[in-house]
Amino acid sequence: MINIIRDPQIPDALSKNSFDGVKEALIKMQHYKCYLCESKESITTHIEHFKPKSQKGGKYEWQNLLLACDHCNSIKNYVADKIEGFELLDCTNFDTIITDEIAFYCGGMPREKVRIEPVISDGASKAIQDTVNLLNQIFNYNSESLAFDAKALTDEAIKELKKLMDLIHEYEFNSFSEEKKNRLKLDIKDNLSVESPFTAFKIWFIKARYSGTEFMELLPTFDE
Ligand SMILES: [Zn+2]
Repeated sequence: MINIIRDPQIPDALSKNSFDGVKEALIKMQHYKCYLCESKESITTHIEHFKPKSQKGGKYEWQNLLLACDHCNSIKNYVADKIEGFELLDCTNFDTIITDEIAFYCGGMPREKVRIEPVISDGASKAIQDTVNLLNQIFNYNSESLAFDAKALTDEAIKELKKLMDLIHEYEFNSFSEEKKNRLKLDIKDNLSVESPFTAFKIWFIKARYSGTEFMELLPTFDE
């Protein structure tokens, strides 16, 4: 989960209380990713209301709409039911930079369990704690039918991290010319961009292992 810039262009249909073309507008705004897990593979997607339709959020209010995959939508409903007064960080609000507040750990190793934690463990807000709880369930859910999807999703993240690792290996051990180094740097930057899948995990892969190196300069910035 990373911050997403809300497209200022409001789909016309919403003023006519219709969702025509809204899914398409959301998927483009979200770089073809689910806003929670950041997978690009999900076939079925749901328009989600950030605040419940019944509350002030509004059913046809553009600011209140996001697109989630089937798996995340199911887990979110389950978690929201279990947690009293469930609060979720609003990824379109840049007052909170999600990847500054929440750490996403995945080392790219098969059979690994990913870890998602508040950066500051003492005194994290309820919204941060609830969001962390939800994200951990999304990737590590281990009972009933949703466990299979959680495992498939984690495997997808692990494979994506492996791609980043391969590029870093290539850069470190096989680039003997400045030209090749620069080309690989661009590839790594692309791999880390907000348009790529599982950006939050990749940002933390670099932050945890390569702080103070040139790779830090390749991380996406979240200035709105
Ligand atoms: Zn998802």
